[in-house]
Amino acid sequence: MLTRNEFDALPQVRMGRRELLAGLAAGTVFPFAASGCTVENPELGRRQLMLVSDAQIAQLSAQTWQAARQRERISNDRTLRAQADRVGGRIASASGMTHHDWEFVVFDSDEVNAWVLPNGKVGVYRGLLEVTRNDDQLATVMGHEAAHVAGRHAQERASQQMAAGLATGLAAVALDSADVQNAGAWAGVLGAGLTFGVLLPYSRQHELEADRLGVDYMARANYRPEESVTFWQGMMARQSRGAPPALLSTHPSDEVRMNALNAHLRARGYA
Ligand SMILES: [Zn+2]
Repeated sequence: MLTRNEFDALPQVRMGRRELLAGLAAGTVFPFAASGCTVENPELGRRQLMLVSDAQIAQLSAQTWQAARQRERISNDRTLRAQADRVGGRIASASGMTHHDWEFVVFDSDEVNAWVLPNGKVGVYRGLLEVTRNDDQLATVMGHEAAHVAGRHAQERASQQMAAGLATGLAAVALDSADVQNAGAWAGVLGAGLTFGVLLPYSRQHELEADRLGVDYMARANYRPEESVTFWQGMMARQSRGAPPALLSTHPSDEVRMNALNAHLRARGYA
């Protein structure tokens, strides 16, 4: 996994004074609260604050993916790689997000973890594949990660961070300065969105949405949605034994979340 410093060192999308002014003129940057800067997400059935462009996210995602592939050792285990491709591919198809060039790479590490980037690039660690007992449990992880993509959760968090920056005067600073120094500050805010799911925990709302959509993808792909409960309970049991899986540090789980997951399974008739 990328460390925070390595992530900060990545080349970032730059938003200098000119882009900021253009954004202001176009109404895409500010005032976000009063203007059309929220976008309906049909998968979620709600509107989202969206201050980052698809092009910016695509560029950052590609850079992050390249850096992760260079840093991590990629597994040569044919069985594990085939399993990740098989399960990931079925979930991606079921999600309907065919516009992404999905890729599932197994990293050769004991870490019990997986993450996804907004461009459909999924990193899954050998340690996780060793504790998922069947394809259905791996489909739980793949479905949940794909749901974070469909939910545009990373972009939403980046947008919220940008909004917070605007609220604290970053916009004024940027407007007052003609040089590129402030571009770094903007780049940090933009990049921060991508660290959700890779370094930083998703919010409870995002977790609940990812669970809901994820089990729907599982069902559509003909996996057994009830295995999602078994999987997350297993993760929580590891945590209570003092061996918290890295997956839980970026995807916090607790009884409230499990109750919501069970309620969704019952509502859909999956359990
Ligand atoms: Zn999650």
